[in-house]
Amino acid sequence: MLLYTKSDRLQLEKKFELSFPLVEEIKKVYHFLGNYTQLAYGAGEGLSFDLDLGDFCTKFKIDPVKTLNALKFLERNDYLSFTESVFLPSRFRFEIGNEDLYRFQIENEGFDYFIKTLLRTYGGSFENYVRIRELDIARRLNLSVQQVIAQLKTLQEQNVLSYLPQTDMPQVTFTRARQDNLHVIIDRKFLEERKQVFHEKMEAVFTYAETKQCRSRMLLAYLDEPDAPNCGRCDVCLENKRREKASEVFDRITQEVIDQLSVQNLTVEDLVRSIKTGTEKDRLETIRRLLDAGKIKSDGEKYYL
Ligand SMILES: [Zn+2]
Repeated sequence: MLLYTKSDRLQLEKKFELSFPLVEEIKKVYHFLGNYTQLAYGAGEGLSFDLDLGDFCTKFKIDPVKTLNALKFLERNDYLSFTESVFLPSRFRFEIGNEDLYRFQIENEGFDYFIKTLLRTYGGSFENYVRIRELDIARRLNLSVQQVIAQLKTLQEQNVLSYLPQTDMPQVTFTRARQDNLHVIIDRKFLEERKQVFHEKMEAVFTYAETKQCRSRMLLAYLDEPDAPNCGRCDVCLENKRREKASEVFDRITQEVIDQLSVQNLTVEDLVRSIKTGTEKDRLETIRRLLDAGKIKSDGEKYYL
């Protein structure tokens, strides 16, 4: 059974739009990257940096997914290379001096052991950010990793330290010196072709999901076999069979009802009992439908034609 809703379609269309930025948008991302890294035109060949995508996109008011896709096209056109995610471990640094920290420990006994452990495990954390492994701390203190992270965050809120949780940031390298806008050339044809291919695939998915034709027949028609028979096994065929069978049962019960009532008037119980086809539910349902349609009548006790 294929699950498919209107929102699936909207989602896929949105994805499509974000996957294929316009040439102008790609050039814009390139220009913003140059500004972000404060590169002069003609400089920056070989420069590598971690791109804080959230920060970058907020600053220039662009969509992150679209930006990542723009980076792919810039890479393909030899302006830069990028690794989609580079693992950056968690880091922290104390934001207050030795003495203030000592005072904090005395005033906040609950944090004393935690801070002592940080100090013992990670040297140099008053001057620089140091890498931290939450799991190591958790083991040492017999806490869960979540508890360690919560403590670090609380200490950050109290301005005792700053804590940078681990992230995956794309790393960008300019493979060419920064070009000005006029000299950035994006292969428009390639972009259009990729877009076309994606679009066709997307439409095929929609057609498949929306058509009420036998799946197998549709597939064979696609493979140039237009006259294949219905397979009888796919979801569409099974649904059709179910519907046909239901209407067949309805027709047969209808015939029996009319045959019975043309001989005598009957109560609903007797009528149901006299019918041979279908379940009791099918029979009652058919009688109700015939009554609604005015094909049979009832005086409240007995049914008649
Ligand atoms: Zn079928």
